[in-house]
Amino acid sequence: MSRFETDVLVVGGGPAGLAAAIAATQQGLRVVVADGSHPPIDKACGEGLMPDARQAAARIGIHIPDTCGYAFRGIRFLSRRRSVAADFPEGQGVGLRRTALHELLVATAERAGVTLRWDTPITSLDSIRARWVIGADGSASRVRHWAGLDSYRLNTHRFAFRQHFAIAPWTRYMEMYWSNGCQLYVTPTNEREVCVALISGDPHLRLQDALQRFFPVVADRLAGVPAASRERGAITAMLRLHNVAGGRVALIGDASGSVDAITGEGICLTFRQAFVLARAIAAGDLSAYNKTHPRLLLRPHFMARLMLLMDNGPLIRESALGLLSGAPVIFRKLLAVHVGSPIFRSSQLPAGL
Ligand SMILES: Cc1cc2nc3c(=O)[nH]c(=O)nc-3n(C[C@H](O)[C@H](O)[C@H](O)COP(=O)(O)OP(=O)(O)OC[C@H]3O[C@@H](n4cnc5c(N)ncnc54)[C@H](O)[C@@H]3O)c2cc1C
Repeated sequence: MSRFETDVLVVGGGPAGLAAAIAATQQGLRVVVADGSHPPIDKACGEGLMPDARQAAARIGIHIPDTCGYAFRGIRFLSRRRSVAADFPEGQGVGLRRTALHELLVATAERAGVTLRWDTPITSLDSIRARWVIGADGSASRVRHWAGLDSYRLNTHRFAFRQHFAIAPWTRYMEMYWSNGCQLYVTPTNEREVCVALISGDPHLRLQDALQRFFPVVADRLAGVPAASRERGAITAMLRLHNVAGGRVALIGDASGSVDAITGEGICLTFRQAFVLARAIAAGDLSAYNKTHPRLLLRPHFMARLMLLMDNGPLIRESALGLLSGAPVIFRKLLAVHVGSPIFRSSQLPAGL
């Protein structure tokens, strides 16, 4: 009998842990997921999945139908004076509550044969009797610390608040409103509800205050509309690790680095990482994952930096939005790049990514 209870123990059953588990099971590995909480697990999130996220999910056997949320056709940027929208070059995005996404991932993992242990916090690496350990325990990862992978570069960190409102979506776009030092994005999450997320550099700026002070158009739309959830906060960061794997431990999702929430690409990244990691583990060699992981981060990091240039004052923001609204074709091309248009896909990535 093997000295290991399982091939892979995944610490954390959020989107990254469940995606990693599903992908590893497809490689014929026995997988256990342990999470200190229990489903459906909620978290402050913009709740938008772009078409590339749905494609990356499908590649590891996770199907996210339009019916599980609200399909949207593209992205719209708005400021007080300007607005520009573009459709995705291919496919549709989907907005869905974080809890709905979690339920879908849990059901897919169960069908794939993953063993799920909820209310099971992991307190050290020594106690884990598995050949491989995947740290999917989020941005404050303890697995990262235990495995000595804590060396990183933090580019930015900002503060976010999210809440749902019971109103029928007014648009088929995911909308991003720009103001002084903050952005608000509105994602339709079903026929009767939208998710509103605020991101800013100010930890004290809360959603209602920001709506009144900076986003009067959205405040007017939401006037008198009942909240459909409580306000939840989170920190969003641009974090890059020097190594994401060492010994028998590999990190995935926010534990392995992150992009600013403004990109809406965090969950897509975890699906793509899961695809690469499962193959690396099946081959018994994590070095391929260590090598490919930074390349997966390149595009979303670049796009985040590009977008955040518009956060550098009203003059830059209004000039950029003026340029984009005057030449919407540029916005359409940028959106195509953002969701992985072939012209920007790195030739150094493995096939399928
Ligand atoms: C404001 C905001 C908006 C965002 N908007 C979007 C968006 O619109 N689209 C998008 O794609 N991405 C978005 N993101 C990014 C996305 O939310 C993250 O990338 C994603 O949540 C990462 O998932 P994860 O599984 O790595 O981490 P988490 O979701 O944090 O999951 C970590 C899990 O690990 C568990 N855990 C922790 N420690 C232990 C332990 N010791 N033992 C056992 N279990 C443990 C926790 O209970 C938790 O379930 C947004 C992020 C923020 C902050």
